[in-house]
Amino acid sequence: MKNLKHDDPQILQLILQEEERIERTIDLVSSETHTPKSILEEMGSVLNHKTIEGYPGKRYHAGCEFVDVIETLAIDRMKELFLAEHANVQPHTGSAANFAVYFSVLNVGDKILAMNLSHGGHLTHGHFASVTSKCFNFQHYNVDLTSELIDYHALAVQAKEVRPKMIVAGASSYPRLIDYERMSQIAKSVGAYLFVDMAHIAGLVAAKLIPSPVIYADFVSFTTFKTMTGGRGGVILCRKKYADEVDKAVFPGTQGTSAVSNIAGKATIAKLAKEANFINVQRNTLDNAKLLAAELAGKNYRLVGGGTDTHQVVVDVTTKGLSGSQAEKTLESIGIITNRNYIPKDTGKRASGLRLGTGPISVRGIESDYVIQIANIIDKALMEKDNQEVLRELKRNVLDICKQFPVYK
Ligand SMILES: *Cc1c(COP(=O)(O)O)cnc(C)c1O
Repeated sequence: MKNLKHDDPQILQLILQEEERIERTIDLVSSETHTPKSILEEMGSVLNHKTIEGYPGKRYHAGCEFVDVIETLAIDRMKELFLAEHANVQPHTGSAANFAVYFSVLNVGDKILAMNLSHGGHLTHGHFASVTSKCFNFQHYNVDLTSELIDYHALAVQAKEVRPKMIVAGASSYPRLIDYERMSQIAKSVGAYLFVDMAHIAGLVAAKLIPSPVIYADFVSFTTFKTMTGGRGGVILCRKKYADEVDKAVFPGTQGTSAVSNIAGKATIAKLAKEANFINVQRNTLDNAKLLAAELAGKNYRLVGGGTDTHQVVVDVTTKGLSGSQAEKTLESIGIITNRNYIPKDTGKRASGLRLGTGPISVRGIESDYVIQIANIIDKALMEKDNQEVLRELKRNVLDICKQFPVYK
């Protein structure tokens, strides 16, 4: 990065430090990944220059002959990968994708039924702090407080009362599978659209390891940087009959020009997703999550939802006398990166959960015995959080594992 060294050595220094941090820590953040170098190359390329208002063949600027091919490749590959009738690859993020889905077929003030944030939903599912809640009349469904799973019967009853125009399925923090067929029956029974937000699990769906919502949902959105392992961005899939509305809702509805560099990343990850390496990583992601869950349960940690079917393991750390924040900070101090999360029993400001995801460790090749070691390290750190000597030792153990599994060789 010799040019950056000249123009802004301070930022270069911080990038190098960030690289070092990534190599020296174990990333268990459920919404992160380590992106292939090829995609980082695309993101740092001249593709950043082009302003592309509109869609391939229908642009508002000249000079799009090459970027049109890139966007068309991204669209076609995403459609093929997910067996979707239409794809829009322009959303800047998952949130932007969600805004566009809402504005594609709904009017301001329409009713939407979505999952409560502390029960697993996302901010863009009508949380009061999100602008989505100011535009639409969101009502929320909860999980059953005992099983911490969606109660489809209760949801069907609630849908009949609320009569929403759209039902949102999909979550930020819900480690079990969602029954999309049941969701679509519920949506149909009240004449609502079904929108599935598969932000976290798109990679697992792409590898065909967990069920796909695409045939059941009118709209599907996802992020390309969680289990999907591509660069930052969002994608919308939908039925052909909504293609025009979705495209108009993205541009000019809610975005201006999109980032061609990120669209290229989406094209590349959709290509890589059909290859053996990607599918292996996703399989390891699932196996690692199951193993991590079993190890922690064996040490008497209470798992939200009773376990995992995905990359996520959500732990109620209060049963071990900690808050989510204390657990997050303790683990950060030894180089294990996680995040605190609300869980269904939370009603106040304090998060009782620690959300773990096995995407990034699986990308760097960590598996089996090493996952058991990580579970042991997590437990020991949390149980001895005030013992600096133990924490120092655990930090060395984390570093040893990191050195054996470099993120970028
Ligand atoms: C991560 C996530 C999003 C998108 O978030 P961005 O940070 O805007 O990309 C949307 N929905 C769910 C359920 C998510 O987990």
